[in-house]
Amino acid sequence: MDKQLSRRDALKLGGAAIALAATGRAWGEEPFIEGQYEGQYGAADVGKYVLPPLPYAANALAPLLDAKTLTIHHDKHHAGYVRGANKTLNALDGARNSQDFAKIKSLSRALAFHISGHVLHTLFWHSMAAGGSPPAAELVAAVKRDFGAVDAMQQQFAAAAKKVEGSGWGVLAYEPIGHRLLVLQAEKHQNLAVWGAVPLLVCDVWEHAYYLQYQNRRSDWVDAFMSMANWKFASERYAAATA
Ligand code: MN
Repeated sequence: MDKQLSRRDALKLGGAAIALAATGRAWGEEPFIEGQYEGQYGAADVGKYVLPPLPYAANALAPLLDAKTLTIHHDKHHAGYVRGANKTLNALDGARNSQDFAKIKSLSRALAFHISGHVLHTLFWHSMAAGGSPPAAELVAAVKRDFGAVDAMQQQFAAAAKKVEGSGWGVLAYEPIGHRLLVLQAEKHQNLAVWGAVPLLVCDVWEHAYYLQYQNRRSDWVDAFMSMANWKFASERYAAATA
């Protein structure tokens, strides 16, 4: 399978699905062997997660999001979460092998942080489109059911994103047990999440997402994001999540 995550893969991704799509390997198929991935992905990159390419040119979202801000965000920050996810999985393999779980708390923390960071960034690139895109009728109906009106949901989404405490995300998600949409905040990448909720559209409000271009004006960045929000992508994610 192609190592690059396709848009179709991104539509239906769950955490492990990204890894499997990327490597074609199932969990547990191979025992951990120290250094087995070296040379294949580089010593630091175990290779269970792979940085997907941007789904558009680096200047595709300019001027609202300039090429430099976007490129550094993707090539440095997102890549760092991929690296961190793989290193953490590698360390956990080693812990099981040596039956030494002394670092299980910090490793579990790192696991949630880096994999959540990778998942959200993978969705984030698709959450934007030049000029934005409208939601499909099914998502509009669900939004009206759960928020009263599309405008009301968008206002709540923007407010949530602007008011994240510290670094984090605004998220529109589908929660399959209540069969309803939720607007969530995420602090860092993993805190304040709702178990099982499927993110449909995500807005990164870490300073690294906007500071180069917008400096301290997070509110302006969120307004810019809203004007290029890819509701078509959110609609496709919603259709996949409710299928
Ligand atoms: Mn980010």
